[in-house]
Amino acid sequence: MLEIYNPATDRHLVSLEEDTAESLKAKFHKAKEAQVNWAQTPIKKRLATIEKFKSLITEEKDNLARVLTNETGKPITQSKNELNGLLTRIDFFLKETPKVLKEEKVSAKDAAISEKIAKEPLGVIANISAWNYPYFVGSNVFIPALLTGNAVLYKPSEYASCTGTLISQLLHDAGVPQELFVLIIGGGKVGEELLKLPLDGVFFTGSYATGKKINEQVASKLTKVQLELGGKDPVYVCEDVDIKMAASSLADGAFYNNGQSCCAVERIYVHQAIYDSFVESFVSEVKNFVVGDPLSEKTYIGPLTRSAQVEILENQIKDALARGAKVLTGGKKINRAGSYFEPTVLTQVNHEMLLMKEESFGPIIGIQKVSGDVEAIKLMNDTEYGLTAGVYTQDEKRAESILKQVNSGTVYWNCCDRVSPNLPWAGRGHSGVGCTLSHYGIETFLKLKAWHLKK
Ligand code: NAD
Repeated sequence: MLEIYNPATDRHLVSLEEDTAESLKAKFHKAKEAQVNWAQTPIKKRLATIEKFKSLITEEKDNLARVLTNETGKPITQSKNELNGLLTRIDFFLKETPKVLKEEKVSAKDAAISEKIAKEPLGVIANISAWNYPYFVGSNVFIPALLTGNAVLYKPSEYASCTGTLISQLLHDAGVPQELFVLIIGGGKVGEELLKLPLDGVFFTGSYATGKKINEQVASKLTKVQLELGGKDPVYVCEDVDIKMAASSLADGAFYNNGQSCCAVERIYVHQAIYDSFVESFVSEVKNFVVGDPLSEKTYIGPLTRSAQVEILENQIKDALARGAKVLTGGKKINRAGSYFEPTVLTQVNHEMLLMKEESFGPIIGIQKVSGDVEAIKLMNDTEYGLTAGVYTQDEKRAESILKQVNSGTVYWNCCDRVSPNLPWAGRGHSGVGCTLSHYGIETFLKLKAWHLKK
């Protein structure tokens, strides 16, 4: 059984039956058959089914938000924000998918032959998901995958399986066939077993360490693999900014969802001319965060979802302090039930420290002083990750010049920790392979067929 606990109270919530090698095989074979019918179902009907799913989500929003908060510790206002964001993403996919599915007529040199490019679903895909934004990272895969005619074996994280179960129920209630969208329950071992099936695609969201393992496990099968992985996202604050505004925006970017976002701000570089004032403003923002019961509308920071993250944060702080860093606020686990950690700000940091190199995925941040743009760009690029990066300045040309030199799939000017359905979400290096969202993130669930037609 998979045991689920509330990270705010450590209380047991529910036991869910895990999948086995046998149950996975049976589910896969049924999905294979169901996919053939689904691919032939007119797109209008597929769109109507997902439209219905959207209306069920809207009706159930409060209950869904509560379940998400209870199993992950995400503050209730942020759970509701995630569900609102999901509705916008669904709208994007409903509007864009028919355009992407259109056949392309191309001209042939030979007048007797016509040529066209058609797009077909991949088949049966695995959707292995992370827990930090289960509605976002799951729906980025399963909504376009279903709309384009695929069957989905969906394994939510073992830390978000109540939410995963509800997603599955609502899709079935909306009319998606039970055998076509299939819930898989379990942790890493079940995920590994799932990958032994003859899948037509593997779409993974999670850590670099697991992504690498998955890539290696699947490599010899030549199956399509898409990986959305972690980040160590930098932001550079130039000397011409409104300091209060920049500090407030970046404190939110670093601490929203307790820092447990793939695109959370994880490193801040500040121009030496405003360094002291910026740090003062930033720390005062962080000290104002309300830490507490995630079910309270007032709470901004709840518990960490996984208790194991506490040790990672403690190690990063210990290592940074040993190398000369200073803790300005926070620095330790809070003495109460649940995995609460104090929002923590460190200065006098450098790239010798784990804190500035490895993903923290928690409420801690290092702020480093820089002499100017050249040093900032060098430090921003000194990472194996490449998910997002940002610059705060009033000078648009300067921002553009800096961001062009940063090796990252997403760049921000005067904003951060932001995802748009219109734009591709595509990590570089250890942040991943392939992309979701935008029309590219719909095409990724299709394979091309080239037609040569002679009358
Ligand atoms: P994780 O790698 O521990 O687990 C992710 C999923 O993989 C879970 O469902 C887990 O059960 C499964 N899994 C674990 N081992 C497996 C194996 N050997 N084979 C198959 N499946 C396996 O990650 P997590 O803790 O759930 O998520 C946090 C990480 O995800 C962070 O690094 C974060 O940055 C990243 N993330 C990235 C994005 C993005 O869009 N780039 C979005 C959200 C989260």
